[in-house]
Amino acid sequence: MNEQNELPPHVAAPSPTAPHGPSGLGGGVGVDRVPGLGHSGGGSTLLGYIGIDTIIEQMRKKTMKAGFDFNIMIVGHSGLGKSTLVNTLFKSQVSRWSSGWGSEHKIPKTVEIKAVSHVIEEGGVKMKLTVIDTPGFGDQINNENCWDPISKYINEQYEKFLKEEVNIARKKRIPDTRVHCCLYFISPTGHSLRQLDIEFMKHLSRVVNIIPVIAKSDTMTLDEKNEFKHRVRKELETHGIEYYPQNEFDDDMEDKNENDKIRETMPFAVVGSDKEFQVNGKRVLGRKTAWGVVEVENPNHCEFALLRDFLIRSHLQDLKEVTHNIHYETYRARRLNDNGGLSDVKVTCQFPLTL
Ligand code: GDP
Ligand code: MG
Repeated sequence: MNEQNELPPHVAAPSPTAPHGPSGLGGGVGVDRVPGLGHSGGGSTLLGYIGIDTIIEQMRKKTMKAGFDFNIMIVGHSGLGKSTLVNTLFKSQVSRWSSGWGSEHKIPKTVEIKAVSHVIEEGGVKMKLTVIDTPGFGDQINNENCWDPISKYINEQYEKFLKEEVNIARKKRIPDTRVHCCLYFISPTGHSLRQLDIEFMKHLSRVVNIIPVIAKSDTMTLDEKNEFKHRVRKELETHGIEYYPQNEFDDDMEDKNENDKIRETMPFAVVGSDKEFQVNGKRVLGRKTAWGVVEVENPNHCEFALLRDFLIRSHLQDLKEVTHNIHYETYRARRLNDNGGLSDVKVTCQFPLTL
């Protein structure tokens, strides 16, 4: 928008009460319209305040009213602290299994999938959070193809969305059960990734946003942790595993620079806990170890805060967008191509999805 001092003399400057901030919805526009002015080849020159910037407030109000869905899946073998970590992330018992909530997918394999939904609200914004737990993943002696039920679940959610989208009587707002993010828990062995970790991430990174994390990092020393992180990064690279945020989807240089920094610190080495301790007169979430209390939210102690900021405070919307624009779009294009339209097909686990 033009600076006021660039306005021609016959154009009224915005009135001091004209809405400039996002709070001024629907107020007077405060500008004379001058026919024939303001159109030149490249961009239009506005002669005064119109109120385009209030679109942000309009969008905010709509989103606040509608609320939004966020679906997070947690994968990794039993006892790695998955349930504890998501509860710590959302500061509530979001992964507790309570009857009457969510759905349960009984799958005649080793992995059953449990989805639990909670509505959480902060600052007037409602989020329907669904935690999809995958108990039993990787717990068997033979874990061959144990990611099949998980990929089947992910594809089923895409299929559900697609069916709703092509429906003649389409819902105004399609319920979104698609998995926006899959937190993959790596065991803090200090050695290397297991074959199962590699296979899972290789297969699933094509259909969902994978965020690898190193579980229970309080069980490693600082040196062990750094060395392990380095090794895991190298192995992911060697195996061509693209985790979120994927290089190729960076929007611009600013995005790339920000994401490069994040990628350099991944996988985040996290600690989860539901116990509070008194540290320097403050109550903090932590875990007691032989060396003292490891504070969950202290960035000098572990990378929980980094993960939380990344997942919720900076990239939540992007996770949803990449899911919709890339993963779902790939599924949709393949389905429509393969079937010459939308004949009914049973969703099966077909890997690799052609990308
Ligand atoms: P899940 O099976 O992966 O869901 O694991 P749980 O969240 O049920 O945790 C299993 C056990 O590990 C519990 O006794 C937790 O208290 C403990 N635990 C959870 N997170 C951590 C952590 O970050 N560090 C350590 N040392 N223990 C943890
Ligand atoms: Mg659990």
